[in-house]
Amino acid sequence: MTDCIFCRIVQGQAPARILYQDEDVTAFHDIHPGSPVHILIVPNRHIVGAAQVEPEDEAVLGKLFTVARLVAEEFGVAEWYRLVVNNGRSAGQSVDHLHMHLLGGRRFHWPPG
Ligand code: AMP
Repeated sequence: MTDCIFCRIVQGQAPARILYQDEDVTAFHDIHPGSPVHILIVPNRHIVGAAQVEPEDEAVLGKLFTVARLVAEEFGVAEWYRLVVNNGRSAGQSVDHLHMHLLGGRRFHWPPG
């Protein structure tokens, strides 16, 4: 989708600090980090959010976790980190392209706010 900022990042049409990219998944630094390590991992295909996933997305969505593990190791936060997927405005979703937040480098509390 041309009006989706994450689609534009995936396609190299908008600037981002990309850390990883393959045919299915792209990972890049969050522009407003909420922790010392804050990386977004997205499916290259436009999926609006968790509420729109389909069975055919399962392999790509599983890959988000594999890439998260690799990135966490690369950034030295593999001992503990938090993975977050917000779905819907009231849950904090502000970009309508499914994304996994990888947050690390500080301690986290539960439940989240
Ligand atoms: P969410 O609020 O869960 O939808 O997360 C969206 C995240 O995308 C936020 O943490 C934003 O800081 C981040 N974000 C928005 N635009 C960009 C961008 N152009 N490059 C990198 N991160 C972005």
